[in-house]
Amino acid sequence: MARYTGAVCRLCRREGMKLYLKGDRCYSDKCAFVNKQSAPGQHGTSRKKVSEYGLQLREKQKVKRIYGLQENQFRIYYDKASRMQGVTGSNLLSLLERRLDNVVYRLGMASSRVDARQLVRHGHFTVNGKKVNIPSFLVKEGQVISIKEGSRKSPKFEAIAAAIAHRNPPAWLDLDKDNLVGKVIAMPTREDIDMPINEQLIIELYNR
Ligand code: SF4
Repeated sequence: MARYTGAVCRLCRREGMKLYLKGDRCYSDKCAFVNKQSAPGQHGTSRKKVSEYGLQLREKQKVKRIYGLQENQFRIYYDKASRMQGVTGSNLLSLLERRLDNVVYRLGMASSRVDARQLVRHGHFTVNGKKVNIPSFLVKEGQVISIKEGSRKSPKFEAIAAAIAHRNPPAWLDLDKDNLVGKVIAMPTREDIDMPINEQLIIELYNR
């Protein structure tokens, strides 16, 4: 399926929660979801009983949209998670969190995951000193994520350096705010992922 190119704030209204897809705007009172929370479309305000399948589908769509993935990409993560030891739902979320674009966003080095993906694709980041331009790159414990030396002086990263003082990364990441260097100090666990996601519904959907 083609990538969604419409108004992203509609997606938050569709999923009934803030998905943080628009960077700084999401944290301001200009957020469209704050002003209007009903689902988009002509029947957005009508109360319909949602089937079990509908609930499962919505939960999957929510997670796909948070991480900006298409169905085939998401399915690959699910298959990988189901082959890992432990709880499949937690494995799935942990894998998604370990994506380099997500890590850059979580460290506060980009305003949104979309922004982070573009910055990674353009080669602005290194992992353990080597340039990595693959947003889906999975970070591992002990790896160091840094802004490439030649990119640091750009206005974009100077603005990020100014804003990063107010960002607090999750417990599994360490951030040196002065040098704009992040480190993976542990693999993310379910408790580290602070989003209202019921991953069990996604597992049930794929097991139908
Ligand atoms: Fe969602 Fe609000 Fe961000 Fe728009 S501004 S993407 S509604 S969180």
